[in-house]
Amino acid sequence: MRVYSTLSRRKEELPPPPGPIRMYFCGPTVYKRIHVGNAIPYVLPMWLKRWLELQDYETKLAINITDINDKIYDAAPGASARLANDATNWYLEDTDRLGLGRPDAEPTAVETVPEQIAMIEELIEGGFAYSIQGDVYFRVGRFCDYGRLSRQKPDKVADQEPNPLKEDPRDFALWKGNKPDEDTWWDSPWGRGRPGWHIECSAMSEKHLGPSFEIHGGGLDLAFPHHENEIAQSRSLGHEFARIWMHNGILGMHGEEMHKSLGNDVSLRDVLDRWGREALLLFYMTGHWRKPLDFSDATMAAAAARADGFREVFRGPSESAPADAWDDLAAALEDDFNTPDALAVMHEWRDHDLLRRALDVFGLASLAEQEEAPSEIVQLAERRQEARAARAFEEADVLRAELEAAGWEARDVADGFQLVRKR
Ligand SMILES: [Zn+2]
Repeated sequence: MRVYSTLSRRKEELPPPPGPIRMYFCGPTVYKRIHVGNAIPYVLPMWLKRWLELQDYETKLAINITDINDKIYDAAPGASARLANDATNWYLEDTDRLGLGRPDAEPTAVETVPEQIAMIEELIEGGFAYSIQGDVYFRVGRFCDYGRLSRQKPDKVADQEPNPLKEDPRDFALWKGNKPDEDTWWDSPWGRGRPGWHIECSAMSEKHLGPSFEIHGGGLDLAFPHHENEIAQSRSLGHEFARIWMHNGILGMHGEEMHKSLGNDVSLRDVLDRWGREALLLFYMTGHWRKPLDFSDATMAAAAARADGFREVFRGPSESAPADAWDDLAAALEDDFNTPDALAVMHEWRDHDLLRRALDVFGLASLAEQEEAPSEIVQLAERRQEARAARAFEEADVLRAELEAAGWEARDVADGFQLVRKR
């Protein structure tokens, strides 16, 4: 099994089963409902975990919740704690609806503050960080590998977190002193304040996965500065940290990236309400995880049509596939988890057992279930069949229209009729 790593710029081989494969993916900053693109760093690792476990790997997946962040303070001045709490619940509710289960750990920044403070103290002791007037900054110049992940020359790195008191404009905050409009703070050796975003993830990942682990992931827009800074913090402490960096492509709409901060976002909840989980999961599958994905009515309608195509396979007879058919699916997924190729393989199959097993990897086994018609629908279909038998075709057509209006299609089959739910 190989996956592409941003750090080495090539596909990296995973250790053989049982691994373990420990994975950390950067989850949402909770200040509003997550958008349909924010769900990718949740869906991708959940799928990967399911696939790896099917290959007899032991896995541990942590997806964090960033509940201390500038964006939350900005969105709810004086009431950030309440907003973060509400938005955490929205995130859990919305992602639950995808039907993929939960990660093994979902740490929050708030619950990991003691570990973050301990890490900052250790960085100061090692000379990698310094405090000024209640803030603590990481000394970028002390970490010689800085910029390797995002391919920047250390002396050309963009300035971070403006503060004229910093030693170097590249230095970034590990701890920020409390400001008057910030309603949450924690006591620390540097006074009241709160952690910077980057140290939160170094502490959360290492708390749950240890000082070295196999995979760290997140959206491509996090490579710099967030992940570059995580690497600098953790490796300065002598920890190996993540070996493979998986950055997913950013979802776009009308040629523009979708970002909560740009205000052009479509919420995951709205997409689930309109299209349902199966169409949405199939939509995610149509794009390779490293590539940008285009969200539109047309691409969602195409995904809904795929869902119907799979349901249709299960309405017909099962046709057994060649003994090595599964290998084609495995080949696609083992080579950088290529879900569009996997999807193309699955669309060829008419073998019910094989297809159900493959769909289940992606949380889509429900496509194999036929929805049972309620009794009043069955009665309508029976009356239509009787009308046809009596050659009362006009009445039969009226009944067909009634069925369609209720969202059902009666198909004539050898031994009567088959009721199919129309979506
Ligand atoms: Zn993070």
